[in-house]
Amino acid sequence: FPCNNIRNFSIIAHIDHGKSTLADRLLEMTGTINVNSKGANQQVLDKLKVERERGITGNMFYQQEERSYLLNLIDTPGHVDFSWEVSRSMAACQGALLLVDASQGVQAQSLSVFYAAKERGLRVIPVLNKIDLPAAQPERVKAQIHSIFGINPADVLHISAKTGEGISAVLQAIVERIPPPSGEITGNLKAFLFDSSYDRYRGVISLVSIQDGVLRKGDRVASCHTRKKYEITELGQVGYMACNMKQSSEAHIGDTLHRVGEVVEPLPGFQPAKAMVYAGIYPVQSNDFPKLEESIKRLVLTDRSVTVQRESSAALGQGCRLGFLGSLHMDVFRQRLEDEYDTNIVVTAPTVPYRVVYKDRTVVVSNPTDFPDVVDTPEPIAKASIIVPEEYLGEMMDLCFEHRAEDFDHRYLESSGEVSNRVMLTCTIPLSEIVTDFFDKLKSRSSGFASFDYEDAGYKQSNLVKMIFLLNNRPVDALALIVHRSAEQAIGRMWVKKLHKVIPRQLFEVPIQAVVGKKVIARETLSALRADVTAGLYGGHYERKMKHLENQKEAKRKMKRIGRVELPQEAFFDILSNR
Ligand code: GDP
Ligand code: MG
Repeated sequence: FPCNNIRNFSIIAHIDHGKSTLADRLLEMTGTINVNSKGANQQVLDKLKVERERGITGNMFYQQEERSYLLNLIDTPGHVDFSWEVSRSMAACQGALLLVDASQGVQAQSLSVFYAAKERGLRVIPVLNKIDLPAAQPERVKAQIHSIFGINPADVLHISAKTGEGISAVLQAIVERIPPPSGEITGNLKAFLFDSSYDRYRGVISLVSIQDGVLRKGDRVASCHTRKKYEITELGQVGYMACNMKQSSEAHIGDTLHRVGEVVEPLPGFQPAKAMVYAGIYPVQSNDFPKLEESIKRLVLTDRSVTVQRESSAALGQGCRLGFLGSLHMDVFRQRLEDEYDTNIVVTAPTVPYRVVYKDRTVVVSNPTDFPDVVDTPEPIAKASIIVPEEYLGEMMDLCFEHRAEDFDHRYLESSGEVSNRVMLTCTIPLSEIVTDFFDKLKSRSSGFASFDYEDAGYKQSNLVKMIFLLNNRPVDALALIVHRSAEQAIGRMWVKKLHKVIPRQLFEVPIQAVVGKKVIARETLSALRADVTAGLYGGHYERKMKHLENQKEAKRKMKRIGRVELPQEAFFDILSNR
């Protein structure tokens, strides 16, 4: 196919603005349903409203005035946690359709994906979707697009991905406004590896964008990153290749492949995906660990951005510490783990990667147990942006303030003089404050109107403390937390109450304490069971007694011993899952 007739593009949008619908419509209009998305995966994720179909969604042929074009649609995820994957997919594109819902207007991720596209030098085609909706306000949203992105309103396309209105103009704009890929077809081969997946039968499938030269089946290539050599066993439309690569970890995202025997300058790569949230994952039944680990390993093959490390806990036994791109990413993974592998799991409270500074070195710590008692240490912070109708501005500022946000700023996104003008609020906020239920609170306190985005903003010195919990004077490692000094009282009291509710009474009194340093912050006492429950069962009740002891034996097997305290594993599950 002549290079000049190829267009590589992606659709970028805030979640729910119609990306999938438009992609389907484009494929349908060009009569080439050739969808290569990852089936099973998608269903679970659609339920969670996350886009994770990655890589090439489809390619289509489009005829315009005697010339036929090959259009490659490279899909990108639509949620805030996956910005790294968005910019990765963009590396294979020359242009992007920026889709904005005409009834919702510009939202937080519309901005972040727009800037990501601009940074990568992509040509952006603004598209207003859902103009069929009675609530659509195309003129108003066009004014927003103009004031926020500096885009000329005359360049904005109006479409309905649902009814098909305006779709042919989109195809035309792709051909006319997006440049073909550049590169020297006669030059030395340079293939940019931007994504990979794992197929049980074919092994590692890599998605590559050919920057120069030609790649054919049977070619021998080498990685600039590892120097390893491979033979191409399979090539597909467009940009997917298989070779004798055994391990997913051999496919380095951002690597450059070249022909064996030739020398090329590697293309600028990517920063590796950064884990923002960590959590320990344990089986409810300790002896299920091998099965759990196997399941985790298999899932990680399909999701390269998850990091895995073994860890063990005195209370929970053997487990894994996993790193995720964000808390939604964590929820998705957890659900997949539970759904697909039918394993009951305990997930510890999420933590962010802290940097603990010792005299002679700095250590990144993601497990509270590994913390020194009291730390005055840098913690990761994020720059947050919230877009919301102005009547919710005060509420949103309060919410952020309660989560230790600083450096507030806001800006009106339109100046129509109408009610419900939209405002963008920005602030810096500790990452640890937004990895739990911040997003849910944001949604409920803005009646669902607020959209939210954040980006990494480095580290900031902070007064953090390690809180541990004692059961009968023995620490329970799996419950340790890192909290800000100002919140220690509230958090300590809350957890102690919760533990008091969940832990079964024992034959003796059990103090439950939250401790920071050497100080007890909160305490509850679990009173003793009055006497042996079998004591009253005599003579004719022998059978009942045996039955009772049987039951107890069964229950015992599922018990964890913390000092002299018997704790059902399910108690951990309760405590940790109802955070
Ligand atoms: P995505 O999250 O960006 O992939 O959005 P989807 O394509 O899943 O669309 C989100 C919702 O908007 C779905 O319920 C679609 O049916 C609906 N939708 C998409 N495009 C249009 C449109 O042009 N008009 C209307 N009325 N609804 C649309
Ligand atoms: Mg979708």
